[in-house]
Amino acid sequence: MSAPRLEIHLDRIHHNANALVERLAARGITVTGVTKATLGSPEVASELIRAGVSAIGDSRIENIEAMRRAGLNGPMVLIRAPMPSQADRVVASAEVSLNSELDTIARLSISAGAEQRRHGVVLMVELGDLREGILPRDLEQVARRTVEFEGIDLVGIGANLACQSGVAPGAANMAELSALASALEARLAVRLPMVSGGNSANLNWALGTNRHVAVATRGAGRVNNLRLGESILLGCEPLQRQPIDGLHTDAITLVAEIIESRIKPSRPWGHLDQTAFGLQADPVDRGDRTRVIVALGRQDVDPDGLVPPDGLQLLGASSDHLVLDGGDAAFDVGAQVRFGLNYSALLRTMTSPFVDRVFVRDTPS
Ligand SMILES: *Cc1c(COP(=O)(O)O)cnc(C)c1O
Repeated sequence: MSAPRLEIHLDRIHHNANALVERLAARGITVTGVTKATLGSPEVASELIRAGVSAIGDSRIENIEAMRRAGLNGPMVLIRAPMPSQADRVVASAEVSLNSELDTIARLSISAGAEQRRHGVVLMVELGDLREGILPRDLEQVARRTVEFEGIDLVGIGANLACQSGVAPGAANMAELSALASALEARLAVRLPMVSGGNSANLNWALGTNRHVAVATRGAGRVNNLRLGESILLGCEPLQRQPIDGLHTDAITLVAEIIESRIKPSRPWGHLDQTAFGLQADPVDRGDRTRVIVALGRQDVDPDGLVPPDGLQLLGASSDHLVLDGGDAAFDVGAQVRFGLNYSALLRTMTSPFVDRVFVRDTPS
């Protein structure tokens, strides 16, 4: 099979999604399955729907449009605030979008009128991570204006943490979001069906996967939805990068090909200056070792996010070469090597035109 390629195990993705859907259902929380790290793959999206997610979320309208063209007709949520210039496309392809600007909601309203559709708006609240969101003190005023727009339904509020500043979702900020939802309902005499608490980083809070106290003992409050990508695709929670109990961490792997394997000294010789990508740490002299080059580079992957197989240790990467230490072992040129990926490596690999995508099933469906 061609290399490099991403092997995407649809059964394992299904298992991960279904396990999270069921565990969160027990807490009264639905899952929006986030496909942005798969470039909006219709294969992955269909699998998520079969596994029980309540909607598909993606950050790019292009991905949502591609999934629509592929025949997906379930509910779709644009999870990045729409560009005003794309309002028509957003209303045409997504039922709901996450928003924080009235000017954009005004544009969505005009598009909804023109297309004779309604569009759902979730207002994002800033809870301290300092990425998107309306400050809590401004929320009521923005919500009052939002409900006045023709063609727009205020369907809820949401928050996103742990992305820009690493602020962890926990009892305090989730309780604040719940309180804001209830206060808004009371002040505006509306019902907010959706309170979307965040992303995969909320799982420690929601399920108590480690030292955090789980909502199992206290309830999720008004939070009734999470938007999950990384945890479904990689089986990990992003705060401590720990595997989640019972989930596959090898649902997506990267296979690449060896183009050189030679015994060489472990220390370079000559005067050392900067490399193509900045300064290198001074290499330790470990004698002669097998040095393996794999045809993969920074154009294709974030090398820091690769997990090489046992027996190979990552030494560095340039645009097109991944250099590994193979110890005393011998490796065949042309042999294929399988890597694990973190989120950053997955994102870059999916967007490289040089990497193929191969969908695999463990069991025939
Ligand atoms: C990417 C993203 C998500 C999903 O995050 P994961 O860590 O992949 O679960 C959820 N919400 C928003 C707004 C996002 O941008």
